[in-house]
Amino acid sequence: MAKDFFTLSAAQCLKSLKTTKNGLSSAESQSRLSVYGQNILKTSKPKHPLKVFLKQFSDVMTIILLIAAAISMIVAVIGNKPAELVDGFIILGIVLTNAFIGFYQERKAEKSMNELKKLTQPECKVLRNGNVEKIASQNLVIGDIIALESGDIIPADARLIETLGFRCDESALTGESVPAEKDHKCILHAQTPLAEQKNMAFSGTVVTSGRALGVVVATGKSTQIGKIAGMLSEEKNTQTPLQRGIAELAKITTYIVLAICVITFIIELTVGSSTVLEAFLTAVCLAVAAIPESLPAVITIIISLGARRLAKKKAIIKHLHAIETLGCCEVICSDKTGTLTQNKMQVQAIYCGDKTYKHNLFSAPLKEHNKLLEIMLLCESVEPSKNGYMGDPTELALVNFAEKFLQKKKQEFEKNLPLIDEIPFDSTRKLMSSIRQTQFGAEVLTKGAIDELLLKCTHIMLGGQVKPLLPFHKQQILRANKEMANNALRVLGFAYKSINSVNSKSAMEQNLVFVGLCGLFDPPRPEVKKAVEKCKRAKILPIMITGDHKSTAFAVAKKIGISDNIDEVITGTEIDKLSDEKFLKVLQSKKVFARVSPENKVRIVSGFKKLGLLVAMTGDGVNDAPSIKKADIGIGMGQSGTDVTKEVADIIITDDNFATIVLAVQEGRKTFVNIQKTIQFLFTANLAEITAIFLATIFFPHLVFLSPVQILFVNLLSDTLPAVALGVEPEEKDLMKYPPRKANKSLISGGIGINILVMGIVQGLIMLSCFLFGLYVMQDEQIANTMAFYALNIVQFFYFVSMRTNSVIQNPITSNKLAAYAVLVTLLFVLLVAITPLCGVFGLVAIPIECWLFIAFASALTFIINEVLKKLKK
Ligand code: ATP
Repeated sequence: MAKDFFTLSAAQCLKSLKTTKNGLSSAESQSRLSVYGQNILKTSKPKHPLKVFLKQFSDVMTIILLIAAAISMIVAVIGNKPAELVDGFIILGIVLTNAFIGFYQERKAEKSMNELKKLTQPECKVLRNGNVEKIASQNLVIGDIIALESGDIIPADARLIETLGFRCDESALTGESVPAEKDHKCILHAQTPLAEQKNMAFSGTVVTSGRALGVVVATGKSTQIGKIAGMLSEEKNTQTPLQRGIAELAKITTYIVLAICVITFIIELTVGSSTVLEAFLTAVCLAVAAIPESLPAVITIIISLGARRLAKKKAIIKHLHAIETLGCCEVICSDKTGTLTQNKMQVQAIYCGDKTYKHNLFSAPLKEHNKLLEIMLLCESVEPSKNGYMGDPTELALVNFAEKFLQKKKQEFEKNLPLIDEIPFDSTRKLMSSIRQTQFGAEVLTKGAIDELLLKCTHIMLGGQVKPLLPFHKQQILRANKEMANNALRVLGFAYKSINSVNSKSAMEQNLVFVGLCGLFDPPRPEVKKAVEKCKRAKILPIMITGDHKSTAFAVAKKIGISDNIDEVITGTEIDKLSDEKFLKVLQSKKVFARVSPENKVRIVSGFKKLGLLVAMTGDGVNDAPSIKKADIGIGMGQSGTDVTKEVADIIITDDNFATIVLAVQEGRKTFVNIQKTIQFLFTANLAEITAIFLATIFFPHLVFLSPVQILFVNLLSDTLPAVALGVEPEEKDLMKYPPRKANKSLISGGIGINILVMGIVQGLIMLSCFLFGLYVMQDEQIANTMAFYALNIVQFFYFVSMRTNSVIQNPITSNKLAAYAVLVTLLFVLLVAITPLCGVFGLVAIPIECWLFIAFASALTFIINEVLKKLKK
């Protein structure tokens, strides 16, 4: 289908692609989809399960362990030592089981990441039978008619068939940074370079303003961007700062542990009675046990499970690092419309011919009323859809209101007043105009923010007549505007002028005739007030940013508890007048920013960042992308957000709701706390083993203190489950009562490092004390070793129980299924080894009841000491 469609007229294109302006039927698009394939650039193959499984054996320690096991088996066979052969098989069995656990976890993490990716698949608007519908962009086919508007990322290459003020940023394709103006009417010669193909829109480029319809001429790999897809950077699986930090921590620990292993090896060999192979095996097992290899994998699982939980709560994490940053969030800058309010606009008041109408909305319309309704109906950018119209809620409210009042459909008016051109709404100008053909020439219909609109008006329609607009009229209009705004209404002004011919766009919006005002009510979301309170309790600053009038903004902010003092409100114009230094000072006392421009938004985010605060920022419009990018946590709106904002955002909130953002912050805090718990648990266990084994090797070099298989059993099998269980702990009760954590603080700050040190040594000493009890009280080396092994298991059980609770009552074991399994499995393992023939296989002996009691009491000390440490920390 490599035709030069830019050399054809729009009509020729439609004909050659066997389609019409109303689009393809669903059946036709389905059949084309099977012919042309999906509209995607790359198909990423899922990792083969076998590859994932084999990867579990790729780390150095596991390889060394396997080699050691193989050597010990060979030596056992040659030397005819069946006991050592069993040891070899046990090591092999444990390593295999561990690989299966790792394989299962990795697959689970991958699955939840894939689910997340599916949720962020792009959508686009297509025409079916003349109505606009949203479909997944990957189902787009050649011949489909796509509707494009400001903020869209173009889903496929298209020949434009209708354009209204349409411009595209094609820098991704052509390198040209100035948006290209498009025009569907032109027909170009065959040699026209890509950058000058004004009647085409290209996949992957961005609509910066206006609207257009286009017929799809190429999809997927056949698009211009598809042809150079090889040049596009591959999507990398980048690590989050936390993951990097953990990998770093794990590396340092590895070096320390390796040093200790070498010392142990030398002592075992020289002072102890071990053979080279035995000493080597002990050292390797100690290394495997003490090096936190599984930690990065466990953390990935915890983060991906957190991301999945967030998705269920309607917050989709696009970049994994956001989940940790969320927990540090100190300021949430939120749009008003749609996020704090419901975005269900309703006309509640009209000002027209120097009178405000509220509930009695003009029962007997005057001439100016009709003009006002006509502008509402014809100065808009809504599209027809199956259930009426689709588009900006402000405009939908106006169109529906006007249709209801006039008892006529918009299409009927449009027949007599066809659209010639449009100056689209943008949040900097805060105005929009439609230019319509009339019997006598043309008419400019303009609507927008009243402060901007009044600057363009020179006349006013009063009593059906056009009169000069006097300062007195302006005061009246502003008074009416203020009254509506004070009642939390969004106010729009309406104006028009007749022209003979269409000339330059800037001249169109001059010398207008003011017709009236309209006040729209957008109720606050019911759950927002509580969410704002929650933020304040958690020392997170909720900030409202809006394009609306100062009074409207303040009235809404007051209703939902963001501000109760008008001095906390500042406008974009006031901000513009401040120097950077002054602005930073003023910023600290402001909670509501009204009539802001996209540039103001960037300045606000940068300002908060300069004050050392971590900022989350929401946005929807195409111009919001820079401020979303600038923020530490960029939040895109799933429903009202443009493709561009969703593209740059770290998180997408699918219900556009402020309360969801607060929930996401809460989830971020919880995930981080749980990660810290996991780290604390694993590092403490490792330190305990190192302490015990190291001291035992020094003081009793000739005795067996935990054999290699025993060490492996505990570390590879019974440690992992509690570690993951801690990662999915339910939320602590006071989580949203503390101020946010500072992002630059270390993972083991806040007493966690000290806890690891103290509890690691305590647990090591407990194990050693059990060993000593067996050695000196029971006078039996084998009992001593058995006691050390059970102590290692049980001490961790007590520590786990203590770690997962603020209090056992507040956080019963039933609140975390995995924790319950972890406890069960640990106890079951111990029981299994104690009462079955496994006892002998693991080189253990039966021990009398007093030994069990000693182990239980000694191990319980872990619980008590940790509880005391927790109290001290508080
Ligand atoms: P928020 O930040 O609360 O979501 P916003 O960013 O949606 O507000 P804008 O859309 O920039 O705010 O609107 C600012 C002002 O522009 C409104 O108060 C209104 O007067 C005017 N306005 C809004 N939508 C339109 C529109 N479609 N056409 C013309 N004027 C509009």
